[in-house]
Amino acid sequence: MTRPVYLDYNATAPLKPAVIDAMTAALSECGNASSVHRFGRLVRRAIEAARDEVAALVGAEARQVIFTSGGTEANNLAIRAAGAGRRILVSAVEHDSVLRAVPGAEIIPVDARGEVDLAVLQAKLEDDRRPALVCVMLANNETGATQPLALVTHLAHAHGALVHCDAVQAAGKMAIDATRLEIDTLALSAHKLGGPQGIGALIVRDHIELHPMLLGGGQERGWRAGTENVPAIRGFGVAARLAREELPAMQALGALRDVMEQRLRRLTPDVVVLAPGAGRLPNTSCVALPGVLAETQVMALDLAGIAVSAGAACSSGKVRSSHVLRAMGNSPDIAGSAIRISLGWRTAPEDIEHFVDAWTTMVARIRGNQHAARVIPVPAA
Ligand code: PLP
Repeated sequence: MTRPVYLDYNATAPLKPAVIDAMTAALSECGNASSVHRFGRLVRRAIEAARDEVAALVGAEARQVIFTSGGTEANNLAIRAAGAGRRILVSAVEHDSVLRAVPGAEIIPVDARGEVDLAVLQAKLEDDRRPALVCVMLANNETGATQPLALVTHLAHAHGALVHCDAVQAAGKMAIDATRLEIDTLALSAHKLGGPQGIGALIVRDHIELHPMLLGGGQERGWRAGTENVPAIRGFGVAARLAREELPAMQALGALRDVMEQRLRRLTPDVVVLAPGAGRLPNTSCVALPGVLAETQVMALDLAGIAVSAGAACSSGKVRSSHVLRAMGNSPDIAGSAIRISLGWRTAPEDIEHFVDAWTTMVARIRGNQHAARVIPVPAA
């Protein structure tokens, strides 16, 4: 059996060795950052060093970083913080941790590339002058498509609206300057960039008035109470520093991803690469094999030792039709037959070779013996 190949970095990335070292060291140290004695002060210093690194990753100031339990909490906190009393507009392709946090939100549609329709956003802001919060992610978790955030913030601010940006997938995969982009609140998650799961951050610009979700001991300047998860914060700090230093290597993965897509297209001419023509994260590819359910592909590839996912619409092991791919105007067949291949810091060219071989075998087997696989009937043109 060949070694397993992990191509699901947008779900979570493997911990980097230096992150493990920092976390392991933190686990054997004692101290509460709120204590005034030496033990507490040492822990406080380690937390502040990590805060500096997280801020540097996204062009923010350390005082603007609030550590949270992850991207989900950061998104919820932002919407609660910046969105209180405001009308909320969200792009149609946001992650569930944004969409579900505001069930009554107004949706900003996207085009076939997955990019927000700025004309609709402008019309919505002009038609209703109440204070608003606009939520647009920097890069999509399923397709990797990036959004024109500078244009979004310019438009929103011109109409007195605030902007929350989910940068969970973008961080470490593209350069981010939250200050230059004038993003009011920005969500991050460590486990997408080689840090631990269960830790993230919300970057909050100085003028935003926060409404904390967790009240108690006054940690994180009263914005997020609870004793800090020090090993996770230290791991996040190291992961943020490495992500910044290794950004060129991440961007170089784009060439490997492009070659992979070209080979899939050559092998299977009807394959559809989603978010065509969009700016995309260098590590992400979302491809549909019309007529073949995404779950079937994921299982066939898993048997061949390759880990990919069915779109992103997978939680608790259940796959449901992707709201992202549907919002981009794709048919149910395309949306239901799309898999996401996401590369990362440990991906080598041999991994892509192995994936392409497994894909070739899978397509031959499924298409050659339609009875052996669960196949979606392709509607007549
Ligand atoms: N936002 C996006 C775009 C994501 O992809 C994810 C995780 O998949 C989240 C938010 C949630 O982050 P976390 O897993 O840290 O709660």
